[in-house]
Amino acid sequence: MTDQPRDLATRVQFIPGIGPARAEAMAELGLTNIGRLIAHLPFRYERERAESAIAELEAGVTASARGMITATRLAGRGRKQRFEAVLTDETGRLDLVWFNQAFLARIILPGMRLWVQGKPTRRGGTLQMAHPVYEILDQDEPERRRERLRPIYRGTTRLSTRMIEQAVAQVLDEAVGQIDDHFDAAFLKAREMPSLRDAYRMMHAPASEQEIAEARRRLAYDELFMLQLAVHLKRRHLRERLRAPELPSSDEIERRIRERLPFELTGAQQRVVREITSDLARATPTNRLIQGDVGSGKTAVAAWAMLVAVANGHQAAMMAPTELLAEQHHAALTNLLEGSRVRMALLTSSITAAEREHMLASLAQGQLDLLVGTHALLTQTVEFKSLALVVIDEQHRFGVHQRAALRAKGGDENSTPHVLVMTATPIPRTVAMTLFGDLDVSTIDELPPGRQPIATRVLPPDRRDEAYTFIRERVDRGEQAYVVTPTIEGEQAAGVEKVVAQLSNGALAGRRIAAMHGRMPRKTREQVMADFRQGSIDVLVATTVIEVGVDVPNATVMVIEDADRFGLAQLHQLRGRVGRGSGKSVCVLIAQPRTPDAVERLEAMRTISDGFELAERDFQIRGPGELIGARQSGEMELEVADLARDLDLLKMSRADAAAWVRESPNLDRPQDALLRRRLNKKYGRGLGLADVG
Ligand code: ADP
Ligand code: MG
Repeated sequence: MTDQPRDLATRVQFIPGIGPARAEAMAELGLTNIGRLIAHLPFRYERERAESAIAELEAGVTASARGMITATRLAGRGRKQRFEAVLTDETGRLDLVWFNQAFLARIILPGMRLWVQGKPTRRGGTLQMAHPVYEILDQDEPERRRERLRPIYRGTTRLSTRMIEQAVAQVLDEAVGQIDDHFDAAFLKAREMPSLRDAYRMMHAPASEQEIAEARRRLAYDELFMLQLAVHLKRRHLRERLRAPELPSSDEIERRIRERLPFELTGAQQRVVREITSDLARATPTNRLIQGDVGSGKTAVAAWAMLVAVANGHQAAMMAPTELLAEQHHAALTNLLEGSRVRMALLTSSITAAEREHMLASLAQGQLDLLVGTHALLTQTVEFKSLALVVIDEQHRFGVHQRAALRAKGGDENSTPHVLVMTATPIPRTVAMTLFGDLDVSTIDELPPGRQPIATRVLPPDRRDEAYTFIRERVDRGEQAYVVTPTIEGEQAAGVEKVVAQLSNGALAGRRIAAMHGRMPRKTREQVMADFRQGSIDVLVATTVIEVGVDVPNATVMVIEDADRFGLAQLHQLRGRVGRGSGKSVCVLIAQPRTPDAVERLEAMRTISDGFELAERDFQIRGPGELIGARQSGEMELEVADLARDLDLLKMSRADAAAWVRESPNLDRPQDALLRRRLNKKYGRGLGLADVG
């Protein structure tokens, strides 16, 4: 031990026993100083048994022992090869054996001292341990090990978990003594949480499983609380500063809109419309996520909101993730608005420069009321005269950053548009609360009347003929079908055309088959969609461009090739293209799943029809990261918390953060100082909070 005082900022090379080489290896993991070392938490624990003398080991009882390797050999050959070693201490001998790990002959050598743990079995006169956990001991590890939970750290090839453990052990007590808590004792007591000091101590050197759980709970809570606090501060900040046009509804406006719709809204649609219109009437910019399963009728709700904006003399825009979907929306809205005075345009990359210029000029002068386009609208130099509402369809990856970009479209701070984000990929509530903590959420949890459940079947590839025979029968009854093929990068057209050719010459000879993919010119695409909608095409062979939004009620069969290549959310979206009319629909997944996850996904598809339930299942299979694609954007970096497991902590942290912001909207009380510093360090940049507090 040196006499120099050490603190959390002390570099790791000043820890006794850590030389320059070790420090460098630690730096690779970002473990440059003591604080960072302490923040590097074990990702799991192993229970180490108390060490026994070899003579005390019993067959069938897991235990650990140490000794000297006195002999080794490789026996058997090929796949039966095994590595054997003899471990000896003053009391006796233990045989060790590993199958199929011949490389161990180069690692475990006679003369080495080894620690092993496993469950011995009796073999003749001696005990044998097969595949023990082992560790090569330094000469100077004197003490017998007691029973304990050993922390296992993420390391590198140059830095073992043991090395990290040793470094942590050197500094743990003095380091945790310097960690200050951003919560006071009463706050923690009310939540039955340990102090930050205790939490770190228990993570690195737990006395029991109970301690690990307690420590995890505190640290997970902190992570979630920080995130919620950031989100709530940001939201409050925006609400105070930004102004949106007020878009009140009236009986007259509502009556006119209702007359436009060809159907009665479902109860759920009416509820969501009420939620939206009450938002729109206020000068605070709306930020609302509308989630509803595939086919629940989100478009009508969006149309309603846009017409409220137009009725108030403003403009509205609707953005879709693909051109095909933008075209579909445009077609649907055109239908709806036939004979009305609402002026609408479709802006995609397929129009000519002259058309575009004309369109943008009309938009800027207020001669257009509604604009439909792709998400590219965001990045383009599109100017509105008075944009009051933006509807973003089918976009759950639309994060905080993009919405910030949108706000800019409204011009100055006094005319921020209201924003509605619609998604059919239901976001598990847990994720919605975390990632979209600054959004209000409306849920359309009811399908329009008369919908039939979709039957889903899984077929192996060698029985695909059955699927196509089935399509033929349905087509011959006057129904229509989709065939979806996975997209191979750069080969969309080729892949789809090949399937079209195969089917035309085989199972579906004589039926009207057309191709649809993202690379087709817009005119062709629109023509094909129009023909399919009219029924002059029987089978549409497509890539996932039809994933969202396509709405043809007479289509009752969907066959998805290589279904194991798609994610669960995507499969559900695709399946949602059928089951839109009153006919009984079928979805056939052709797949030869190769991983346990794929098997689980297909089974989930087969047995679950509800999108929310599927999303929760997906979440359990895959975890949240991928689902929301938010990891990369740094919006949600959770190391300890696990959204699938920590729902109660999430709720608690959300309520706590909201209360905190109510009491201290600028985090400027003295007792907030530490919290504010830590918050800014973590989220200051990502959420644009640098200007808060
Ligand atoms: P999604 O929520 O998937 O975007 P859509 O808005 O495309 O769903 O609606 C799916 C279909 O249901 C459309 O054909 C639409 O016209 C129809 N629809 C929507 N709402 C109702 C309703 N209340 N009654 C009957 N049909 C409806
Ligand atoms: Mg839709």
